[in-house]
Amino acid sequence: MLENILEYQKKDAMLVKIERELENSESKRVVNEMVEQVKQAQNKLVALERSASQIIAEYEKLKQRFEHESKKLEDVKKVDFSKKSENELRESTTVINRQIASMLTLNKEITKLSNRIVSALNDFEKTKQAGVLAKKKYSESIEKYNKFASNKNNQITQIKADLSNLAKKIDSKVLERYNKMRDDHKFPIFVPLVNNSCGGCAMEVPSARLDLLKKEKMLECESCHRMIYISDKPKTK
Ligand SMILES: [Zn+2]
Repeated sequence: MLENILEYQKKDAMLVKIERELENSESKRVVNEMVEQVKQAQNKLVALERSASQIIAEYEKLKQRFEHESKKLEDVKKVDFSKKSENELRESTTVINRQIASMLTLNKEITKLSNRIVSALNDFEKTKQAGVLAKKKYSESIEKYNKFASNKNNQITQIKADLSNLAKKIDSKVLERYNKMRDDHKFPIFVPLVNNSCGGCAMEVPSARLDLLKKEKMLECESCHRMIYISDKPKTK
């Protein structure tokens, strides 16, 4: 029983190694990074679109104010000042000056808004380009990764076939447990007893449990939950 499990684990270690190679490959890293960058660019474009509609709304408001002020100036032009008294002229001057001041403020606001529009357009263009570049890099990397992965796939298929043959000799409950821990990235799952300690996490096995282990040949580590085994046979390694 134990021998079968250990043989299974030894074979599986080859699969784990290949899986890690695939997971840690440089092209895979770039693929993940580019997926992240494309996502970020998309989020930023959505935010920019939102701020663009805000700018448009502000622009509409300014335009209305500008039209309103222009009309007032037009009205001033129609006034015949030759027939006005000195007092009236003074009053008109104050009104016109206020008018001009208001137009100047409006002008400043329009300049500010157009700067914002230019910078938003630049941002939009830059973000779009970054997105396009990330997508291009993504395609290149995924192609590289797929080539790398397909080289490994033959090996994986062979190992998986071997594993499923070996699995037939192992208790299904034990295998289920094994696979669960494997999914949790605890590998190896079966570890030898080393100096009365767990061969996985080095936690010392209490003497009472040591007796149990000697009897059962296998025992779950209370610390890392790996299966500690003990072999009757003298060490061959
Ligand atoms: Zn342990």
